Amino acid sequence: MIDLRSDTATLPSPAMRKAMYEAELGDDVLGEDPTVNRLEEMAAERLGKEAAVFVATGTMANLVCCLSHCQRGDELILGDKSHIHVNEAGGVSSLGSIHAHTVPNLPDGSIRVEDVLASVRSPENQHHPRSRLLCLENTHNICDGAAVPLATVNALADAAHANGMKVHMDGARIFNAQVALGVPAAQLVERCDSVGFCLSKGLAAPVGSLVCGGRDFIGEARRWRKALGGGMRQAGVIAAAGIVALDEMVDRMAEDHENAVRLVQGIAPSPHLDTNPSLYKTNIIYFTLNGTSPHSTPIFLGRLLERGARVSVSNARTRRFRAVTHYGITARDIDAAIAAITAAAAP
Ligand SMILES: *Cc1c(COP(=O)(O)O)cnc(C)c1O
Repeated sequence: MIDLRSDTATLPSPAMRKAMYEAELGDDVLGEDPTVNRLEEMAAERLGKEAAVFVATGTMANLVCCLSHCQRGDELILGDKSHIHVNEAGGVSSLGSIHAHTVPNLPDGSIRVEDVLASVRSPENQHHPRSRLLCLENTHNICDGAAVPLATVNALADAAHANGMKVHMDGARIFNAQVALGVPAAQLVERCDSVGFCLSKGLAAPVGSLVCGGRDFIGEARRWRKALGGGMRQAGVIAAAGIVALDEMVDRMAEDHENAVRLVQGIAPSPHLDTNPSLYKTNIIYFTLNGTSPHSTPIFLGRLLERGARVSVSNARTRRFRAVTHYGITARDIDAAIAAITAAAAP
C-alpha cells in the first residue's frame, strides 16, 4: 500500500528503533532525562534559540506557545487557512480564552502586512481586545505546502513587533521550508519569538514536537505543558528517535520534494483531474477531480485503494485531494501512484 495521506504515516527508521532501545532515561518532569535534555539542546541550537522544550504533538506545541504569549481575552492574529485556526479543535479559544482574529491567507501561504496592520487594535481603547500575538506557518499545509520566503516572514514579524505584538511560527514543517528554500531554519525564525516543529512528520520520528524560544519563555512554556498534562516522565525513549531525526533525516527530505514534483507532473496530463504542477516545491500536493470524472469522493478513494494507493480528502464536496510524500515512499512508489490515481479518476 502506497500511503500518501500524510507524512505522519512515516515509521521510525532502524537507527531510531535502536536509539530508542538504548536510550538513557530519567524523569523528565524533574529535568533528569538525559536524552530529552540532549534533544532539547539540539533543537534550540538548530533553531537558533536559547532553549527548547519537548512536547507531545505539534498541536500541543502551538497551544503551549499561544498560552504562554497571551492572557485571557487577548487577541491573536492568524491566517484563515492556518493549522491553528482550522485543524486544532479550537484549543486556543476553548482552553486559552484567546480571541482569534483571522486575516486572509494568500495562495502562497503568506498574509499581507497591510492586513496585519489593519487588524491591530488600539491598546488604550477599552472596547477592544489587546492584540498580543501574530501566528505564522511555514511550510503552509493548506496553501499547497508553500515554503514562505525569509523576506516575507521578516516583514510580517517586523510589522507585529512594531505594534507591540509577539510572533509565533507554526513550523511543523520548518525543515521542509529549510530544504526547499535553501535557507537554514534558524534564519527563517530569527525574528520569531517562538517556534514549534514536528519530529513526527517528514522527519519520521514516531512521536514528538519541540517548542523553541528565549529562556524565560521556555520556562513559561514548561509550566503550560504541565498544566495541559504534557509533562511526560521517561520521555527519552521517544526523544531518542528525535535526536536521530535531527541528525539524519533533515537533508533527505529533498528526496520527498522531488517525489512530490514527480507525482504532480505525472498526474497533471490526466484529462480527468486538475492540478498546477508549478505550485509545488515541497512534499505536499493537491489535485481536484474535474467534470469529466464521474466518481464521488468515496468512490474515487475506493477505486484508488483497489489500485494500491491512498490520499487524503481536502474537500469532499469539491473532490479536492491531498497527497504527501515522505520517508518510506520511493520514486518507484510514485510511478505506481501516478498510474493508480490516473486510472481511479478515469470513467
Ligand atoms: C501537523 C501540523 C500541526 C500539528 O501537529 P500534530 O503533531 O499532528 O498535532 C501543526 N501545524 C501544522 C502546519 C501541521 O501540519
